[in-house]
Amino acid sequence: KNEVNIISGALELRKKTVADVMTHINDAFMLSLDAILDFETVSDIMNSGYSRIPVFDGDRKNIVTLLYIKDLAFVDTDDNTPLKTLCEFYQNPVHFVFEDYTLDIMFNQFKEGTIGHIAFVHRVNNEGDGDPFYETVGLVTLEDVIEELIQAEIVDE
Ligand code: ADP
Repeated sequence: KNEVNIISGALELRKKTVADVMTHINDAFMLSLDAILDFETVSDIMNSGYSRIPVFDGDRKNIVTLLYIKDLAFVDTDDNTPLKTLCEFYQNPVHFVFEDYTLDIMFNQFKEGTIGHIAFVHRVNNEGDGDPFYETVGLVTLEDVIEELIQAEIVDE
């Protein structure tokens, strides 16, 4: 039964797209680049339970870098360190994919390891009168793709 699920899941990967499984940008737990790493902010980060936090500059769609939970290891909350200082030190890169990528392509990209295990999702916005532009609409992780593959929800610890 499990094997049948996985095989049908593998076939499904070619039909589904990143947009079908991504986490919407509005639902993402993120930090503003001008945040201060005081006790309250670090508590919020820990309580979120996520291991990677997108960092935006000004607008939530303008994601500039990522904060990994492990980057906080040497942060003393009494120092009120600006998040920006930490981001400039680690300079963790962000990678983008398009919302219409199929999940088999996405799975291969994650597997190759060149983009890490999280990517941000771009949509070409040509709704207005102006030139089309890339709009950031969500984030997708390896876990989102694997859930489709095994056709089941992964319950995080
Ligand atoms: P983590 O290791 O942080 O738990 P996973 O890669 O296991 O993250 O992803 C678990 C789920 O959480 C996925 O559906 C993913 O899209 C979502 N996710 C990951 N990071 C964030 C975040 N910062 N805010 C909101 N959702 C997130």
